[in-house]
Amino acid sequence: ALTAGIVGLPNVGKSTLFNAITNSQVEAANYPFATINPNVGVVEVPDHRLDDLRTLFQPKKTIYTTFEFTDIAGLVKGASRGEGLGNKFLANIRETDAICEVVRCFRDKDITHVDGSVDPIRDVETIHLELVFADIETVEKRISKLERKAKSGEKEAKEEMEVLTPIKETLEKGLPARTLSFSKEEWVYVKQYNLLTMKPIIYVANMGEEDIENPDNNPYYLQLVEYAHKENADVVPICAKIESELAGLGEDDKAIFMDDLGIKESGLDKLIKETYHLLNLKTFFTVGPDECRAWTFKDGMTAPQMAGIIHTDFERGFIRAETYSYDDMMIYKSENALREAGKIRQEGKTYQGQDGDIMFFKFNV
Ligand code: GDP
Repeated sequence: ALTAGIVGLPNVGKSTLFNAITNSQVEAANYPFATINPNVGVVEVPDHRLDDLRTLFQPKKTIYTTFEFTDIAGLVKGASRGEGLGNKFLANIRETDAICEVVRCFRDKDITHVDGSVDPIRDVETIHLELVFADIETVEKRISKLERKAKSGEKEAKEEMEVLTPIKETLEKGLPARTLSFSKEEWVYVKQYNLLTMKPIIYVANMGEEDIENPDNNPYYLQLVEYAHKENADVVPICAKIESELAGLGEDDKAIFMDDLGIKESGLDKLIKETYHLLNLKTFFTVGPDECRAWTFKDGMTAPQMAGIIHTDFERGFIRAETYSYDDMMIYKSENALREAGKIRQEGKTYQGQDGDIMFFKFNV
């Protein structure tokens, strides 16, 4: 399963946020694959399209798609030199598919900041520097392996050195590798290094409840937004404390509480949705009177591969996929009407799925 790692300096609200995640965690019965790991929280991805399909089909069960958050504790200054849980921390980040970086934007004099004051940019740079140091080490190791071969004229080694050199220069300026762009050929090399500063990132601005209705009133949040936009990253404003309270409530109480706070969407729901996009995931649906369900697939997957997400037998015996779009369903309101309008397509083995496809797989057993 894909996982987004929650990182941040001590005392910024990571545990509070992670508690909110585990409290709103999906019921294990629907997701038997969910690992029983205290550092992993499985979340449902809110999707209004699935809500609409439920209204139309009135199924017995509605199942949202999910992904995981992993709580990665223990980052302190000096982690790349092995301080704190240093190396373990970096190894844990390496295993994630994206990074959610929690940044303290709340003022509360009773809660000590590890570096003495609230300063989101300094905090972000402290973390980035640790990741940059770790990446420099990775890159240098690789370079020292290739150097001799490249000098003696080996073509592939030379090619790879040309990819590594600008990465090293960028890292040495203290900048993340993700600020560079690569061609398809270069990407083949870059992918193998699994660099920490190459992972997609989203910032979570943890602010006090007084700011949550109007995040723009919080100067720390604005600083963070400006910083993040320079690297094309997004910032999700959240009040971890409120989220952990919201997560414990039933749907009705949650709605009342949110109304009181003047917010339409919980920060956690927003974070889940944005992280899902960050992971570059797409959704298709299966529908019927028993179950309406959202499934996650990756860009570029073909119809048989999508069938395989549901069951390996579906992929092996794939014949075709009856497919229509969510948008068309919202216009025609029933499968019969869609059929009459010629909106149901018969897609074969090479069809590449689109976000919002509704599919019914025909297969041989
Ligand atoms: P971690 O070390 O990053 O996991 O941080 P914690 O989640 O343990 O939070 C550190 C302290 O900050 C705890 O006392 C939290 O109650 C407090 N805290 C977390 N989020 C907020 C917030 O939004 N506002 C305020 N005032 N305190 C918060």
